[in-house]
Amino acid sequence: MEEMRSFGYICPQCGKAVMGSRTVFALSAAAARIECECGKAEMDIETDGQRFRLTVPCGLCGKAHTAECAADAVLRGRGIGLACPEKQQICCYVGRESEVRRNMEELAIRAEKEKSDNPEAFTDNVIMYEVLSELKDIAARGGISCSCGSREYGIRVRRDAVDLECRRCGGRLRIPAATDEDLDRLCCQMTLTIKGR
Ligand SMILES: [Zn+2]
Ligand SMILES: [Zn+2]
Ligand SMILES: [Zn+2]
Repeated sequence: MEEMRSFGYICPQCGKAVMGSRTVFALSAAAARIECECGKAEMDIETDGQRFRLTVPCGLCGKAHTAECAADAVLRGRGIGLACPEKQQICCYVGRESEVRRNMEELAIRAEKEKSDNPEAFTDNVIMYEVLSELKDIAARGGISCSCGSREYGIRVRRDAVDLECRRCGGRLRIPAATDEDLDRLCCQMTLTIKGR
């Protein structure tokens, strides 16, 4: 099978994690564009054969960032992360699909956290923060999935809960995030399973 490289970022318009893959051959030959489903954001990938110029919509600060990278780093090896100069955090991943996917799960949670920095937003800010951190750990272990078999999900932060929503079947898991007990309950779970439809 031909080698693929994946690109991932968070859409600043709709907040979704966007991922796309192209073959190394196609990337070496021509420009590529990875659009969000919502049609309002796209990542541009251009190359002159030696270097790549990547223009990525940033889900952390809402602007677009441009980076130049050696072709080798984009096309081979462990992959790269591009940092948002404003938030000093990685906002885009390039590399092998499995790694990009795992990193994107964490990034989606981080982006939600950024957005929810409004201190009035939650019933209990400390608990919400801890619950989101815990979710990030579980996601980093690959511990979040849906009973339909999908591992792709979206995250929605509410006033007193976090909803995980399966991208494939729309199944939903609500994680309460308002009290100490909510946090305790989450902390003893190694994995979370969304109930698929
Ligand atoms: Zn979008
Ligand atoms: Zn940014
Ligand atoms: Zn599902």
